[in-house]
Amino acid sequence: MSHLVHRSLRQDPPIAVRGEGIWLYDRDGHAVIDGSGGAAVACLGHGNARVIEAIKAQLDQLSYAHTALFSCESAERLADIMVGHAPGGLTHAYFCSSGSEANEAAIKLARQYFLEVEQPQRTRFIARRQSYHGNTLGALSASGNAMRRAPYAPLLSPAFSHVSPCYAYRDRGGDETDAQYVARLMAELEAEFQRLGPDTVIGFIAEPVVGATLGCATALPGYFEGVRAVCDRHGALLILDEVMSGMGRTGTLHAWEQEAVTPDIQIVAKGLGAGYQPIGGILVHGRVIEGLAAGSGAFMHGHTYQAHPVACAAAVAVQQVIAEDRLLDNVRAMGALLEQRLVERFGNHRHVGDIRGRGLFWAIELVTDRATKQVFDPALKLNERVKREAFGRGLACYPMGGTIDGRLGDHAILAPPYIVTAEQVDLIVDRFGAAIDAALASCG
Ligand code: PMP
Repeated sequence: MSHLVHRSLRQDPPIAVRGEGIWLYDRDGHAVIDGSGGAAVACLGHGNARVIEAIKAQLDQLSYAHTALFSCESAERLADIMVGHAPGGLTHAYFCSSGSEANEAAIKLARQYFLEVEQPQRTRFIARRQSYHGNTLGALSASGNAMRRAPYAPLLSPAFSHVSPCYAYRDRGGDETDAQYVARLMAELEAEFQRLGPDTVIGFIAEPVVGATLGCATALPGYFEGVRAVCDRHGALLILDEVMSGMGRTGTLHAWEQEAVTPDIQIVAKGLGAGYQPIGGILVHGRVIEGLAAGSGAFMHGHTYQAHPVACAAAVAVQQVIAEDRLLDNVRAMGALLEQRLVERFGNHRHVGDIRGRGLFWAIELVTDRATKQVFDPALKLNERVKREAFGRGLACYPMGGTIDGRLGDHAILAPPYIVTAEQVDLIVDRFGAAIDAALASCG
């Protein structure tokens, strides 16, 4: 048996030994399509020679230097790439090792900003239910995922409260228009600001396209503009968690580019280093930086491995490959094909209630009955069945279960690498469709 406590103590996982393009191979020689890039991580696929070369070159030159003493060339370069053109007014970057750490950094930077601009009474965050921002205690406090929160509830911070997400499939009323539903969500957010005291709120945290907890749920038009307006009215920051949806996954480099808003702080991770190295980060708006610059002049936070030279060199190479190979064009083209194939395969499927997503980030939501949207009995563990059936057919996808927050139907995410071809999209949807049918059939 394995001595790792990463996952199950009862069952050993297959051992991955090699990756090439969209394929992963285990020790027994099984080939599996990485159809979700892990958890929407491996956006370049596996074995990219340019990224590997960049990592080796960095190691030959400099493996580590503590940021209390030095910056390094790869970190400077990565910051230039990420904010060189100040997209949306984002002028500065901070790099760490994961999405959770990046969320922690966003939370602390936002708080520090209000100390610097002499609004120390701002101590609260508003986030959303059915959200996931990470597993460290601060990021988990922001997360609305009831299942992940429950065991640690006594340890979580009361500084975070939660409002409804924009989840039209289930939450828009039958006789409600999109605009009326958005207006209702804005009224709820405004009421939460009023309940807390508007001048006590630091910021609002949300994923532009919700990943793990809602299965690629996109916001309705006007939702994020409305959120931005509420935050602006009360002087609070808009913090967008693009750990999953960012760095090209939805067809634009940043998902907020499709929402007509810019964040004050943006969180990135998975697509930043594409899994070649562990790296996350935050991008910070110039006005927040001005507050810090006029005050203490430094971000009072840090980790031993922040802006790690090798991780930053990998991310530089990943971002160069995305730009030089014009991979976002492929994300949009293959994303449109993936949508089309999913609609063809599942559009009339009696157990597929919703097909949703953007770019190369798509999910289906499974229900017992399309009319009632009834969720499957969580005891059936449909998500595990989907995972098993897909794996058996040589496909890794990302299914989540019906027990999340008690009311969510099972969903399964596809997030193939940006290099995916049309033939591969067909193969992925074929295997996915067969796996879904087999998993449903096994439920009786
Ligand atoms: N935020 C979002 C939106 C995520 O999807 C995740 C990871 N699934 C995280 C934060 C946490 O990132 P990590 O697992 O790298 O700590």
